[in-house]
Amino acid sequence: MQRITRDHIVYSLDKAHTPVATIDPGSELCFETWDARTGSITSERDLLDRPHPKGPNPATGPVCVRGAQPGDALIVTILEIGLADRGYTGTRPGQGVLGHLIREHRTRLFDIVDGQVVFSQRIRFPVRPMVGVIGTAPDGDGVATLHPGPHGGNMDHTDVRVGAQVHLPVFVPGALLFVGDVHASMGDGEISITALEICGEVRVKVDIAKGEGIRRPWIEFPDRWITTGDGPGIAEAIRMAAEEMAGFLMRRLDLTADEAYMLLSIRGDARVSQCAEPSMVAATARVVMPRLAGC
Ligand code: CA
Ligand code: CA
Repeated sequence: MQRITRDHIVYSLDKAHTPVATIDPGSELCFETWDARTGSITSERDLLDRPHPKGPNPATGPVCVRGAQPGDALIVTILEIGLADRGYTGTRPGQGVLGHLIREHRTRLFDIVDGQVVFSQRIRFPVRPMVGVIGTAPDGDGVATLHPGPHGGNMDHTDVRVGAQVHLPVFVPGALLFVGDVHASMGDGEISITALEICGEVRVKVDIAKGEGIRRPWIEFPDRWITTGDGPGIAEAIRMAAEEMAGFLMRRLDLTADEAYMLLSIRGDARVSQCAEPSMVAATARVVMPRLAGC
């Protein structure tokens, strides 16, 4: 299995980046990822007000997928997410939902022991590994790894975890796949704008869905479908994800627009993925629809 080491990092998803490797569809490979500060937070004295050493939120890659063409989709199956022994989080004045209450920068490091986050002697809980950044190269200008968009990028959906099949649009020949920003745990919304940021190893299988023709990423599990949206605020992000799901249900279940809207409203769940306003990143949201019996 090919390993893409974490010395191959970038700070944008950009077709101008030279591929680190070229793989055949159906291949498994492992992306080594840096944490969001490229390993520079090593003590609780390292506050998040310091500049990033090279850039924020690095992603590993890109990987060229042989035969992928614009109009296709990559299907990236998340097989395994390995975590380092320790991660960090922090708070910053003015950042995130409660930023107005925060007076000083604080950093905390948390150990991962036996699959548990050790928050304190009293509080520990199982890890919930997920991938914050996954995407392909946009057709036009590159997009910084801090931002989400139709290409994927910094989506921060907690559903990008083991078992997910992430469908990503292909905009350029070879697709160029990037992966980064692993979290040992993140709550929906990432309320302070920082999760439990950690170095990781993400083992994936990459397939091509020829001509799938999607506009933006969606995620498939054996028991549910998930569409994605982003925007300047949560409402816009949810609207985009809901539009995507309505269209999906019309095509998949042969429903009228009215029927899809009704089904979406009475059975679909709108979920906040990234709500950390105010911040420098867009809000992201998703809509989750169970695969109903017979569908
Ligand atoms: Ca993120
Ligand atoms: Ca992060």
